Amino acid sequence: MKAVAITGVRQAELIDLPEPHARGHWVVVKVHTAPMCTEYKAWLAGAPTQNLGHEAVGEVVEVAQPGRLHVGDRVVVMPLYACGQCQLCLSGDFIHCQNGTSVEAFTGSPVGSSTYAQYLLKPDWMAPRIPEDMPYDLAGLALCALGPSFGAMDRMNVTALDTILITGLGPVGLGAVVNAAYRGARVIAMDSVPFRAAYARRLGAETVLDPNDTQALQAVLELTTGLGVDKALDCSGTVAAQRFCLDAVRRRGQVAFVGECNEPLELIVSPDLLRKGIAVLGSWHYNLNLYPQVLQVIRRSPVAAQLISHTFPLSQVQQALALSATHETAKIMLHPWE
Ligand SMILES: [Zn+2]
Ligand SMILES: [Zn+2]
Repeated sequence: MKAVAITGVRQAELIDLPEPHARGHWVVVKVHTAPMCTEYKAWLAGAPTQNLGHEAVGEVVEVAQPGRLHVGDRVVVMPLYACGQCQLCLSGDFIHCQNGTSVEAFTGSPVGSSTYAQYLLKPDWMAPRIPEDMPYDLAGLALCALGPSFGAMDRMNVTALDTILITGLGPVGLGAVVNAAYRGARVIAMDSVPFRAAYARRLGAETVLDPNDTQALQAVLELTTGLGVDKALDCSGTVAAQRFCLDAVRRRGQVAFVGECNEPLELIVSPDLLRKGIAVLGSWHYNLNLYPQVLQVIRRSPVAAQLISHTFPLSQVQQALALSATHETAKIMLHPWE
C-alpha cells in the first residue's frame, strides 16, 4: 500500500509499505480521508519516520472475528489507542486511559499505525460508525477539528449565557469557534495570523484580538463590563496564551487547556486560583458518549463544513504539508486513494 514517509527536512514522499491484517478485535480500515493535524512539525524538523498522522475516516475492509464492526462499515477512527480495560476505559473515559497501547504493542509490528496511508489497524471499539449519508470528509471533522474543544466545552458546560475566549486559531481553535457558536456562546478569539483571524470571524467569532497587542487584556475587560470572560479555552499550546486565559477569565470562571504544551506555566495559587475561585482543567479529545453530539454539530452547524479549507490527494502530500506549515489553512483533508 501507499503511505507517506518523512525523508528529510521539508521532505515527504510516498513509499510502499506492507498492508496490515485484522487480528483479534482489531480491524483493517481502508482510509478514505486522513485529516491533517500537527504532522507538518515533523516535516519541518525532518526527523525520518514512516508513521505519520492520527486522524482517519474510512471503511472496514477486514475483520478477524465476529464483533462490533463488519466489512463495509463506514467509520471514524479515533486518534488514540486506549487499553479498554483500565478503570478509566471501563468508566467510558478512554481518552485518559492510564495504560495506552499501540499497533506495535498488539501485533509486534508498526504496520497499520499510520493514517497517512491507504490502510490502518484499529481496535473495533475505537471506530464508531458514521451515518450512511455523511461524506467522509465531513465525518473527518469529528476528530481534532471539533473533538478536543467539544470535550472541553462539555466539561465547562459552555452555553448561550457565556462569553468564551478562544486562544490559538489553528484548526483546533477554529473548530472551537464553531463549537462555541453552535452552543450560542459569544466568542472572543485571539491569534496573530490575519488569515486565521478572518476565518474565525466568518465562523462566528465576534472579536479577534492580536496577542501582540499590549492592550489585549484591557480589550477583553472592556468587552465584558470589566469582569473578564466566563470561560477560556487555549488551543495554541503556548505559555503566553495560557497565561492570558488565566488573566482574562472572570472570578469563578473556568479555563481549559487543549493545546499540547511541554513548557512550564507560571501560576500563583493565591491570586490566580484562591482569590478568583476559578477552575482550571486539561482535556484531551472527547469520549465516545459525546460522539452523537459531535455528529450533530457537523450536521446542524451552518458553518462546520467551512472548517475544511483544502483537500489534497496523498500523491501531493509534499504540497499539502508545505501549505499546512504556512498556518494559512483551516483543516486539510488528504485522500489516500487519489
Ligand atoms: Zn485504559
Ligand atoms: Zn489531530
